[in-house]
Amino acid sequence: MAESETLMMAKKARALKAQGVEVIALSLGEPDFDTPDYIKEAAKQALDQGYTKYTPVEGLLELREAICHKLLRDNQLEYNVNEIIVSNGAKQCIANVCLSLLNPTDEVIIFTPYWVSYFHIVEFAGAKPIKLYAGIDQDFKVKPEQLEAAITENTKLIIYSSPSNPTGSVYSKEELSALAEVITHHEGLYVMADEIYEYINFNETPPSIATFAGMKERTITVNGMSKGFSMTGWRLGYMAAPKWIVDACSKVQGQFTSGANAFGQKAAVTALMQDPSLQSYMKDKYLERKKLVKPLLETIDGIRTNDPEGAFYFFPDVSSFFGKSNGKNTIKNADDFVEIMLTEAHVALVSGSAFGDANCFRLSYATSNDLLIEAITRMKSVLDTYN
Ligand code: PMP
Ligand code: GLU
Repeated sequence: MAESETLMMAKKARALKAQGVEVIALSLGEPDFDTPDYIKEAAKQALDQGYTKYTPVEGLLELREAICHKLLRDNQLEYNVNEIIVSNGAKQCIANVCLSLLNPTDEVIIFTPYWVSYFHIVEFAGAKPIKLYAGIDQDFKVKPEQLEAAITENTKLIIYSSPSNPTGSVYSKEELSALAEVITHHEGLYVMADEIYEYINFNETPPSIATFAGMKERTITVNGMSKGFSMTGWRLGYMAAPKWIVDACSKVQGQFTSGANAFGQKAAVTALMQDPSLQSYMKDKYLERKKLVKPLLETIDGIRTNDPEGAFYFFPDVSSFFGKSNGKNTIKNADDFVEIMLTEAHVALVSGSAFGDANCFRLSYATSNDLLIEAITRMKSVLDTYN
């Protein structure tokens, strides 16, 4: 199995920092906010109350009830507690689903650019990942006719994230409806909708794909605490799906890791039962940063960006730099671009090749305005030396 490229770049940036190099790390997709105090307090209380033991594999009943409440409140989705499973991060939900659902001849259509781990998890599960590419000219969003053309009799699962990591694109209600229309015409086809950036959406939040006619029985909705509540280190994710899929995931998880951590689950109950507007200061800050970063990136000749509607990433196209040299180094592809940014500008990014698009790089803007300005200024001055 390949190493996660996002985590690898984060490791490289940390190693350079440890050598005293002033690296600005825009590589890891991780909120820079601390977990809100009211959530931390709930975890401390839970520890004192003795939530220090194994929990049911599928998660505390109280948390699964809170998740059902959240899904109804925010997504108009009605689920029973036995259609919910809590895992050690959304990442584990994705792995559980792939390991339980996929067989060797199955094809999985992954909307590309994709979040790095989808591809590797599908391969690890023994199925065949099929990249369905949508470039910057279509805001990185797959069109229904493209999806229709990619489906074969072996297609079992479709995976996408919206808001998207790495592009920040968001599928609108109309776009989701058109995709759902295609999907419901094929028997035995499932969708894993990764909604982990749900709360980091700069416009009105579109409905979940599971709300469209005929979709609920075919949809696995993945979400988690990492992004919306800034709880990456707590390792708490969850999914809602038909009971038979949840039961299969529960078996896999029961053998691999058991239930997620007990006191964290109690804190997640508190978080999910609150009005989501309590966290909207984070989204406001991301939007402010997006508005700062876009024009700054556009001051660099040859960089093309879309206008992300959610998450906290830019995924600029830098193909116009390919072939350019400073007399010493040549930028042949996105991997070189990112390497040169790290070694010459001391800015850590992730190559688009990790996400299935070798023309682009990913920049996470979940950091301070000052660091963002400094990073892009450094990038520009290095790129000015390449002709
Ligand atoms: N899906 C997407 C699109 C992500 O960006 C991430 C963040 N790593 C995950 C899933 C996994 O999140 P978690 O921290 O809950 O495992
Ligand atoms: N979602 C983050 C990213 O894409 C976390 C890193 C990871 O889990 O791979 O950078």
